[in-house]
Amino acid sequence: MTFTVNKLALFGVGLIGGSLALALKQAGAVSEVVGVGRSTANLEEAVKRGIIDRIAADPADAVRDADIVLLAVPVGQMAAIMQAIAPHLSAHTIVTDAGSTKQDVVALMQTHLAAHTASCVPAHPIAGAELSGAAAARADLYQSRNVVLTPLADTHADALARVTAMWQTCGARISAMSAAEHDAIFAAVSHLPHLLAYALVDMVAQRDNADQLFGFAASGFRDFTRIAGSSPEMWRDIALANQTALLAELDAYQAQLSGLREALANLDSTALSEVFSRARQARQDWLARIAS
Ligand code: NAD
Repeated sequence: MTFTVNKLALFGVGLIGGSLALALKQAGAVSEVVGVGRSTANLEEAVKRGIIDRIAADPADAVRDADIVLLAVPVGQMAAIMQAIAPHLSAHTIVTDAGSTKQDVVALMQTHLAAHTASCVPAHPIAGAELSGAAAARADLYQSRNVVLTPLADTHADALARVTAMWQTCGARISAMSAAEHDAIFAAVSHLPHLLAYALVDMVAQRDNADQLFGFAASGFRDFTRIAGSSPEMWRDIALANQTALLAELDAYQAQLSGLREALANLDSTALSEVFSRARQARQDWLARIAS
């Protein structure tokens, strides 16, 4: 099925929204992209890079006659935008999002877009980087990457098919699951690692000899902490939105650390070797799986 869209309204013209617009444009799949943002400089950069065709005058102007509205803002901003667009949506307009948490977005859609839920398709592209803004957007960001859809109970099959086709046009693979399952999975493999990276860098930075420590930090520290370069606003919102699942993962991680601490305190080389070997094997298996 060839996917085309006449007007795409993009709220949040950053890495994620901007990359979707670039990919659709490169595929010749979109006629007009209208952008809404908080920063004029970022929106002007987006026009200059051909990511958006014009800057919307206001949310009503953005969504007027739009075929698809994509909310690609930090999840803490979703409620206000949904409230602003709700009175101006046409019956045929699909509303989708790219937020990293899904139970909160689902609940917000049910509250603020209650008359429009058949056309709501919550989504999370599993692609990204620690970079932000229109300048970071890339047409190939979604090539061979997963996009998870967490449809509402009354999301219409046509809306789901349109959003599926939109992401496939960008080169992505689609999976679907419940919002609760999504949030539990990503608490473990995405949200917790970001918290750990921020915590470690902050701990080192607060030390009296931080300059000396950073002076000797090498590739291990760099690899472990790369994601602490991500947007603090975005990750604050994700942590708060996925509080329950993230607290459970933090507790599990603390238990794991306690076990390692005890092994170290007891100079238990067998216990340390077991954990390290199991982890290395699991990581090698995972890398082999995703490479095949
Ligand atoms: P980004 O910072 O690059 O872009 C977000 C843009 O939204 C910014 O330009 C910001 O000015 C704009 N914005 C903020 N509040 C707004 C508002 N009220 N109205 C209009 N514009 C507003 O961030 P991003 O990485 O593109 O993330 C966007 C969304 O995608 C977030 O919900 C994030 O959780 C999700 N996401 C991010 C990644 C990633 O790795 N970066 C991956 C998957 C999903």
